[in-house]
Amino acid sequence: MAFWRRSRQAGNPLATGRSQSLKRKLAAATTVVGACTVGLASMLMARAYGDFDAARQNLYDISEYRVLLDAANVLSAERGPANSVLGEPPAENSAARDKLHLFRARSDAALARLLAPPPTPTALHHHHLPPLMVERVRERLRRARTEVDALATRPREDRQMDELQHAIEGMFEAVDALQPLIGWQVRQLSACDPGLAAPALTGKMLGDVREYGGRVASQIMAPIAAHQPIPIRSLADASRSRGRLLELWALAGPAYNMYGDAPRLEHAYADASHQFFGHGLSMVDSMVAQGRLSGHYSMSPTEFTNRYVPTLEPLERLRSEFLNEVIAHFKADRQHALRVLVTAGSATALILLVLGYVLVFAQRSVFLPLLDARDAVIALAEGRSRPSFTLPASGREMRRLFDALDILRRKLRERASLTEQLEHQARTDSLTGLLNRRALERIAARPADPAGPSTTSLILMDVDRFKQINDRHGHPAGDQVLRAVADLMRDMVDPDHALARFGGEEFAVLVPGASADEAASLAQALCAAICAEPIRLADGTRLPVTASFGVTTGLSGAPHWPRLFAAADAAMYRAKAEGRNCVRRADAPAQAVDH
Ligand code: GH3
Ligand code: MG
Ligand code: MG
Repeated sequence: MAFWRRSRQAGNPLATGRSQSLKRKLAAATTVVGACTVGLASMLMARAYGDFDAARQNLYDISEYRVLLDAANVLSAERGPANSVLGEPPAENSAARDKLHLFRARSDAALARLLAPPPTPTALHHHHLPPLMVERVRERLRRARTEVDALATRPREDRQMDELQHAIEGMFEAVDALQPLIGWQVRQLSACDPGLAAPALTGKMLGDVREYGGRVASQIMAPIAAHQPIPIRSLADASRSRGRLLELWALAGPAYNMYGDAPRLEHAYADASHQFFGHGLSMVDSMVAQGRLSGHYSMSPTEFTNRYVPTLEPLERLRSEFLNEVIAHFKADRQHALRVLVTAGSATALILLVLGYVLVFAQRSVFLPLLDARDAVIALAEGRSRPSFTLPASGREMRRLFDALDILRRKLRERASLTEQLEHQARTDSLTGLLNRRALERIAARPADPAGPSTTSLILMDVDRFKQINDRHGHPAGDQVLRAVADLMRDMVDPDHALARFGGEEFAVLVPGASADEAASLAQALCAAICAEPIRLADGTRLPVTASFGVTTGLSGAPHWPRLFAAADAAMYRAKAEGRNCVRRADAPAQAVDH
């Protein structure tokens, strides 16, 4: 196969030009396909990145919204210990007061967090709550706390029910002041992604259930603390809150599993139904029933608070678990988007790699070898014996193609050699190895070379009385004589001149450009050489042989050949007629040469 491993500089210019243009086309096609792939991949990646970015933002938004809902919850929860303290005699320290301090600190921390959120992660957008709205909540809370503290320092008997009622409502107002912030945040979230609206509203409603759960008790807390019957207004307020609570529960309660079944949520929902809507609310109903009839209550405010507040805990847990579930859902969304992004990125990189590999492979192992193969076929067809090829580095099919080309090359070479052999046979006399008559006539018929001689000389020779040799010594002996005469003449005639056995025992020499004298002297030399020594046969017999020569000179070329031949033939016959073993020139009619 070393035959194929050669440089590629050979080949005709047309083929080289074509392969250059094909290479340019392949490069252009590669660029177009590559650009389209990169374009499509960019669109895909941009979309995947957009989804990932949106999922991150959603997760961040819902987490921040949860902080706000938690703040509302913490503010609601502060009411429990505040109510307890309002129902207690004044004291420096008590369990309810310690608890109140703790709850107030929690509320303050929650509001401070709303005003100064931690730094927003890179590439995410934070919906900053309007600070004035937060300040309004703080202000309401401060006022409510001042009122609670002022009442708590007075003896219990001095605390008027209206004043107690007012202080409790002050705490309601602080929580109510937070509602516009929640509404504002829900609008921001829904504008960013409508998919956030449902979980945001459900989370808010579950928080409201907890808030109104607290309110129904708080609204009857003042008469309990004052040991007085519940006034009509408080009854109406408590009844409104109860109705609102049941409405909210009917709406938000069943929506807790909006993202599918979650055992913890299931559990919290069952607990809330059982503990709060079973026990807690019945406790309020029973206190209301007692407050309708008289100012005698079976529980003090602290007892009532301590027994009632735990029934609110499953409501709080439900809200908290629901928000956990929402956050888990958006985290899963973000994970999914990240997976899609990574998959799209990897797939794109892989596609580009494969495309690049296919293009390079196509160029190196298919396209260029095919061009080489085409050059090879053209070269073989044009008879160039050593076309240059590059064996492809890989690809069995290509190797097979080149193997086939190699076979074709070998067959063509065999055929060429056979043709040459046949051509040689066609122009060679088999007995003597000299040119035959047809070959000589073809040489003589060649158009004269404008740069070469325009005349030629022809010597015809016939062995004298050859028939007798055959008759006396046999045909094979005659053949030996013919071969010996041919060898002798071959030695004397210039290889550039055409020496032929013209037929039978006749020979001819064509001497292009030779003058008549030159040709005649060659003929003389040949004649003398033939008769100089007898020819020795294989059996040792020595045969004296002579020959007669006719010489002529004329124009070369096909049109002049018949005349040239006829003149030489006539001269040769004259030599026969004039005694044989002599040379006669066509231009010298009667000249005898004797040896
Ligand atoms: P002349 O001096 O007049 O030429 O007499 P010749 O006997 O040579 O002439 P002729 O034409 O009568 O005889 C030629 C003979 O050459 C006849 C033929 O049998 C013989 N001959 C022709 N070709 C061959 C050949 O290939 N081998 C042999 N051995 N003889 C051949
Ligand atoms: Mg003859
Ligand atoms: Mg003869």
